[in-house]
Amino acid sequence: MGTITHPTHIGVMAKLGDWLEPHPEGIYVPAADLWIDPSQPKPRAFVTHGHADHARGGHGAVWATPETLAIMDARYGPQTAHPVAYGETVRMGDVEIGFVPAGHVLGSAQIVLDHRGERIVVSGDYKRRPDPTCAPFRPVKCDVFVTEATFGLPVFRHPETTDEIDKLLAALRAEPERCVLVGAYALGKAQRVIAELRGMGFDDPIYIHGALQRLCDLYIDHGVALGELRPATGAARKELQGRIILAPPGALNDRWSRRLPDPVTAMASGWMTVRQRARQRNVELPLILSDHADWDELTATLREIAPKEVWVTHGREDALVHWCRQHQIKARALELAGYEDEDD
Ligand SMILES: [Zn+2]
Ligand SMILES: [Zn+2]
Repeated sequence: MGTITHPTHIGVMAKLGDWLEPHPEGIYVPAADLWIDPSQPKPRAFVTHGHADHARGGHGAVWATPETLAIMDARYGPQTAHPVAYGETVRMGDVEIGFVPAGHVLGSAQIVLDHRGERIVVSGDYKRRPDPTCAPFRPVKCDVFVTEATFGLPVFRHPETTDEIDKLLAALRAEPERCVLVGAYALGKAQRVIAELRGMGFDDPIYIHGALQRLCDLYIDHGVALGELRPATGAARKELQGRIILAPPGALNDRWSRRLPDPVTAMASGWMTVRQRARQRNVELPLILSDHADWDELTATLREIAPKEVWVTHGREDALVHWCRQHQIKARALELAGYEDEDD
């Protein structure tokens, strides 16, 4: 008899979190027939936040926070939308689902899933340091924590926010006949730079590139105070001397910026730690301002939540998986496709 029969109790014994299926195009929850942050159009999508690599257009129906839905409406047109506010839960099939703040950008949420007596938290993107433009990350105890690892290497330790804003203000004051042109992503980073400046008492008008207008207006509509903003396009060269001007990173070195008064080119990004990246964009004033957790924030979060298992979605998975194993936490990389790490 060559047949090997497995004892049946091993076959039916459930593995922790096996009701969640990682696929290259996103995480699928069969018991609720829904996808989380799918990179392909799906009939039912739960979306953690509005960055384009997590929130794609073309889904049948979308469940997200009201703020994330507003961002998706602005980018893709009206969605078949099911708003779920922070703290609310919805039931889909046999799964209870809630949204809690992730501290990443306006409306960003961790998705908390309860099923079969197990809790899985899908963090999306997150950070732990204060951000005046969004609700702070809330740690939720769980069995499986699904984490990003954009800056998941010990070399990534973001400096204090106020130090970076000080650098920006010092550059502005040092050469009042010039302007400081800050490259910042249109969703999240641009509004955060403005709000951090306001928080440090900077009341001058801030000039913005036209591509930032719509999302700045959306933040203001959701109660985020940004002070006086003026369009940079059409402003006289003389008016722009001694001013801070914000533009999307793509506009830093293009024709648009050539009409500005001798700009000091700055860029606000977690990637400014990497000198090579600053050089690529001809950045004179790198500002290390990130909307992602750095190495210390990632590991502190895992210590605090103390999940039984950690699954890593995107970024530098290997180092974080290794750290987990050293700290007796089971960990694995999910190998999802389609997430980018440039949106910071
Ligand atoms: Zn993001
Ligand atoms: Zn991301």
